[in-house]
Amino acid sequence: MRVLEYNEDTNTFTVTCKCFCGAETVLEDVPGNGYARWQDGGIVIQKALPTLSPAERETLITGLCVVCQSDIFTENDDDVA
Ligand SMILES: [Zn+2]
Repeated sequence: MRVLEYNEDTNTFTVTCKCFCGAETVLEDVPGNGYARWQDGGIVIQKALPTLSPAERETLITGLCVVCQSDIFTENDDDVA
C-alpha cells in the first residue's frame, strides 16, 4: 500500500509504503517526473528514478521494508545461525 504526498514547490513526492509486516517506509524527495514516467510504464524504475537507492526502489515496487527485503533476498544464502 502506497500513500503519496505531492510537494508542489520541489515537484517531488513523499511516498509512504506500508509493508505486510506492518512497518512503514517513508521515501522522501522522490522526483515527480521520474515517478510519473515509471507509473506510465515503458521505462524501468532504475532509469526513471536513478537517485533512489536500490532498496528504496524495491520498497516502491513491492512495498517491502528493508528488514523484509533482506530476509527475502538472503534466503538463498547459507544460513548462519
Ligand atoms: Zn516488513
